[in-house]
Amino acid sequence: MFGFGKSKVNIHPAVDGGVKKGKANFAGGTLRCKCADNAVTVKINGNCAYNHVCGCTKCWKPEGATFSQVAVCGRDTLSIGDNAGKLQIVDASAPIQRHACTSCGTHMYGRIENTDHPFHGFDFIHTELSDTAGFEEPQFAAFVSSIIEAGTKPDEMEGIRARLKDLGLEPYDVLAPGLMDAIATHAAKKSGVLAD
Ligand SMILES: [Zn+2]
Ligand SMILES: [Zn+2]
Repeated sequence: MFGFGKSKVNIHPAVDGGVKKGKANFAGGTLRCKCADNAVTVKINGNCAYNHVCGCTKCWKPEGATFSQVAVCGRDTLSIGDNAGKLQIVDASAPIQRHACTSCGTHMYGRIENTDHPFHGFDFIHTELSDTAGFEEPQFAAFVSSIIEAGTKPDEMEGIRARLKDLGLEPYDVLAPGLMDAIATHAAKKSGVLAD
């Protein structure tokens, strides 16, 4: 029902055919890397939150995707299953330490070790790696303008933002307002402007 051009925009394979709703009270699933043999598995005990597509250059994306799909879960709900020995931190100096499979390159989870970070306590996961469907669906698009840094032409941005809106994924160039408010609240409490 929209222009032909927009249908050619690849956002992410999990949403290109339309966003599929998650299940209420979803009990969780097992994330599996792309290795055919000896795959790394990570178990998530419960649902995720703040699932979204992300245009930054740090998040892991499947082949051909313009955006990653990334969500958070409580770090206490995440446990490593099989082949933990294949995991390695991509960049130990980054605020989010992304643990990737050294064989296939898939990022299995990102963890924040700095207890002063506003999102400490949350791990970052890619729910499309789950063996069962039902994780909360993506809610918005973050760091949209950053896809230019990965090679998208600036004149394609209008069509991409329009496609995101068609999919119900409101485009933001940083994070969605709720998350930006959480970061600012954390900073205001730290400085004493806001009482704890
Ligand atoms: Zn792998
Ligand atoms: Zn990202």
